[in-house]
Amino acid sequence: MGTPALKLIILDRDGVINHDSPDFIKSPAEWLPIPGSLEAIARLNQAGYRVIVASNQSGIAREYFDMTVLNAIHQKMHTLAQQVGADIDAIFFCPHAGADNCDCRKPKPGMFHEIAKRYNTSLKGVPTVGDSLRDLQAGFISGCVPYLVLTGKGEKTNETGGLPPGTQVFPDLAAVVSHLLKAPAAPAPTVAFSI
Ligand SMILES: [Mg+2]
Ligand SMILES: [Zn+2]
Repeated sequence: MGTPALKLIILDRDGVINHDSPDFIKSPAEWLPIPGSLEAIARLNQAGYRVIVASNQSGIAREYFDMTVLNAIHQKMHTLAQQVGADIDAIFFCPHAGADNCDCRKPKPGMFHEIAKRYNTSLKGVPTVGDSLRDLQAGFISGCVPYLVLTGKGEKTNETGGLPPGTQVFPDLAAVVSHLLKAPAAPAPTVAFSI
């Protein structure tokens, strides 16, 4: 028995874990989990996954909220997660706006590269879950396997199309997790004949 490989999964935040808003999530009060999402994270943890969030938060650059508020929002997320036995290992976020032309704002892969560095691992085959095309693009070019959820902006993203090759579509995070954790088919019984 060797050391089990590090199992990672990278989630977008708004529209995947919590309800999104076209007006941004600007306070802890506005951060409301999508039913079943935190429980799904707990199931991932139980299966040995470390759950990482990678989130564009241009509301910082736009001065809709500041770092103190973003930290408070994430504190609420952690607290509600803990209440159902879920653990979010790390949160990576991009505070920039598009005009800043940074390397971390999805669809650019900067946050994914940071994750790979932090965990000292390749992201090849790591599942990534998003509701926007740019989430899936950033993951795909980083070697991740893209999953689109239809929560948040997902319905619209699915209709628009142009998804990275191999993108799988599920109603929500809970459904993605059920798919990922499906027990592999039992091996066919070996029947030994002796004469
Ligand atoms: Mg999103
Ligand atoms: Zn950035």
